[in-house]
Amino acid sequence: MAAQTVASTTDSRTVDLGPAAALSCRECGHRVPLGPVFACEECFGPLEIAYDFSAYDTEELRKRIEAGPSNIWRYAPLLPVPADVATKPNINPGWTKLVKADNLARELGVTGGLYVKDDSGNPTHSFKDRVVAQALEAARAFGFTTLSCSSTGNLAGAVGAAAARAGFRSCVFIPHDLEQGKVVMAAVYGGELVGIEGNYDDVNRFCSELIGDPAGEGWGFVNVNLRPYYAEGSKTLAYEICEQLGWQLPDQLVVPIASGSQLTKIDKGLQELIKLGLVEDKPYKIFGAQAEGCSPVSVAYKAGHDVVRPQKPDTIAKSLAIGNPADGPYVLDIARRTGGAVEDVNDEQIVEAIKLLARTEGIFAETAGGVTVGVTRKLIENGVLDPTLTTVVLNTGDGLKTLDAVAGTGLTATIRPNLDSFREAGLAS
Ligand SMILES: *Cc1c(COP(=O)(O)O)cnc(C)c1O
Ligand SMILES: [Zn+2]
Repeated sequence: MAAQTVASTTDSRTVDLGPAAALSCRECGHRVPLGPVFACEECFGPLEIAYDFSAYDTEELRKRIEAGPSNIWRYAPLLPVPADVATKPNINPGWTKLVKADNLARELGVTGGLYVKDDSGNPTHSFKDRVVAQALEAARAFGFTTLSCSSTGNLAGAVGAAAARAGFRSCVFIPHDLEQGKVVMAAVYGGELVGIEGNYDDVNRFCSELIGDPAGEGWGFVNVNLRPYYAEGSKTLAYEICEQLGWQLPDQLVVPIASGSQLTKIDKGLQELIKLGLVEDKPYKIFGAQAEGCSPVSVAYKAGHDVVRPQKPDTIAKSLAIGNPADGPYVLDIARRTGGAVEDVNDEQIVEAIKLLARTEGIFAETAGGVTVGVTRKLIENGVLDPTLTTVVLNTGDGLKTLDAVAGTGLTATIRPNLDSFREAGLAS
């Protein structure tokens, strides 16, 4: 593979990615030097970053984080990035609002404290800026000059923006039938945007082929050959939630699932905070949320299976429409180990939930946010999620990108510009 040629010329001593020490196989533990590789040469298992955190003193680390910038780089000591990362051109995502959602809590009957982690506040309006920011630093370290990805929409925009800011070429691949908001958001940054005739799983397969071919030489695919670095960006959601809660673990989290990477890395981030002594150890439950029209993990969870059977997606929640989720089995493990669950809601429930969140908290979520809020409601109704415990629901994207989902929402009335007409419309106080 072309990418591995790069790896052999770039060993862990010449690559400065801060506390990242090596790549380690999640299945067999085999370790290899840091490089643009993603699968274990022994067992084909996924590689992830292994760190050396041994030098950290808990209270010094806490002070360093708290004195850091108001973005993900406050956590640079815990990420695969160089120590001076905040000085480089990057889109600097993160430190998004954790909204105490008292109105929504009242509607849903949550008494233990309900929060929405609102990641629509990132530079390109989705959580994907977090993962792309990490992948960009890895691309720099490995000498790539083109950034690429297979995307369900949000990732393409995040890559386009990060590449523009950092002076990389970008060429990204999406299913040809995405929402217009996502297409425009991906194209406006000036990189190349290619629609593939097929669904996300077809796009992803195509990108895997391109990596092994001279046509893709020198390309950093953020979610393929840079996936181990990319994935670590999701840990920052866990770090921020705990820090924003006053360095405390929440009791319950509701997290959307596309490939399942975000959910598994949120768990990894929480485990790291416990091991580093930054939060007090206590049980927490992670709940996964899918759309019924693309629910391979939810179906496997409910059937008690360990393997995830691929599906052909058909849902308005296109950002979550991955029919063959790479991290599906790990999500099942985490949901079961923590005492959480995986649940799904249908398109109608997604739209209702988008409107519920908007009406109660003034937050306009994309369809993925409708999925998490809808699943939260369903889990409470089914007695699975405990309303007396502190609960954090993730909104990972902005409703302006998925306007079609709420088409039909519009004018209350059209009137002539005079008071009689206003009164006739029944709007007077
Ligand atoms: C990509 C994405 C996710 C989660 O993706 P994973 O592949 O599971 O990490 C969640 N929400 C939105 C809006 C996304 O674009
Ligand atoms: Zn292995």
